Amino acid sequence: MGGKGGVTLPPVLVATRSPHKLREIRDLLSDLAIRVLGPTDLGLAELPEEDELEPFDTFALNAMSKAKHFHVRSGIPTLADDSGLCVDALDGRPGVRTKRFAPPDWVERWGRDEANNRWLLEKLSDVARDRRGARYRCAIALTDALGHEVVEGAVEGSIAREPRGSGGFGYDPLFIPDGEAETFAELPASAKEEKSHRSRAVRSARDWLLEHVVPGP
Ligand code: IMP
Repeated sequence: MGGKGGVTLPPVLVATRSPHKLREIRDLLSDLAIRVLGPTDLGLAELPEEDELEPFDTFALNAMSKAKHFHVRSGIPTLADDSGLCVDALDGRPGVRTKRFAPPDWVERWGRDEANNRWLLEKLSDVARDRRGARYRCAIALTDALGHEVVEGAVEGSIAREPRGSGGFGYDPLFIPDGEAETFAELPASAKEEKSHRSRAVRSARDWLLEHVVPGP
């Protein structure tokens, strides 16, 4: 996993078990001279306590909790993403509970992403088109031996009446970003790369990465 010309690039750990998040973050940082690794690249086995890492009421605190956990285990600069969907007609829910929105029996029946999307549509079944506003939010925590920082990004949009498209992941078949007629799952990946909550947060993380993820002595 060396860099160009045999130079080994300095690594950063992306503290997520989601292959989708890892891929998006890797793509967004592909122009930097760093190696973006996931936990399995470092041989970090999935532990039961990872399920308890996001008990807080803000995306920032949950992201920091994940970053600290994985920084202790890896010993290298670590980036963690906590993200979710805040729906106006639901008073901002599911928010930090976005991943665990649908009830367990729905998840068992349809799998997590489809159950969450079905549950959201159910909750909004009586909500008119002009009241379906929502935003995706993302906090990224950055941690190394010297300290930490949190940056955030958001994208405004609305919730479609039925799932559309096969790109992206999670709630993307239901999320229509403002200024578009299609969902993130219908739009080309480049549209999500340009305007998503995650791409905006990652843009704000770049200075920290350039300063803290550097070749060793
Ligand atoms: P986390 O792992 O606690 O951050 O959970 C994030 C939740 O938000 C999961 O249910 C994801 O599917 C959903 N989510 C976060 N970012 C995105 C996105 O870019 N597209 C679709 N769903 C997302």
